Amino acid sequence: MQAIRLNLSDEQETVNLGTELAGLITPPLTVYLSGDLGAGKTTFSRGLIQSLGHQGAVKSPTYTLVEPYELDGLDVYHFDLYRLYDPEELEFMGIRDYFTDRSLCIVEWPDRGHGLLPCADVHIHIEYVNTGRQVELQALSPKGEQILAALNNNDNKQ
Ligand code: ADP
Ligand code: MG
Repeated sequence: MQAIRLNLSDEQETVNLGTELAGLITPPLTVYLSGDLGAGKTTFSRGLIQSLGHQGAVKSPTYTLVEPYELDGLDVYHFDLYRLYDPEELEFMGIRDYFTDRSLCIVEWPDRGHGLLPCADVHIHIEYVNTGRQVELQALSPKGEQILAALNNNDNKQ
């Protein structure tokens, strides 16, 4: 499966990657975001969600587990499972009902929900490198492959 590695030297570049991805996706889609606290998962999500048409702030759903956004033509569900202590909580919240044909699900800390979350199309892992970040995007489905191919194409044109 295809993977792309990029260096993001500051916060704006992380936001911009979210913006770029927003132009390439259609629902249904599931994106997993991994990396340490402060790596930039929520920053990336903000770029993505605002570029999809959300005009307000993008709050970290750390305490609520999920933050919904009803946008034109798609429902975005931004999860942060950092504080999920028991994966059973996902059953109680009816986790599968969020993953519909018209939804984009963005999941921070997906490993906390291991075994109970639907598979991802794209897995994005962010790591600290000096003062910036290195990000690896991995395609985990045919749809994810198409998105990464389009992203590669965009980058090659720049
Ligand atoms: P997470 O959701 O992974 O815990 P946040 O997005 O909440 O992380 O916070 C990331 C922090 O790192 C913010 O302070 C942001 O300004 C900063 N940041 C984001 N992207 C980069 C980058 N590419 N280089 C340096 N700092 C970044
Ligand atoms: Mg976060």
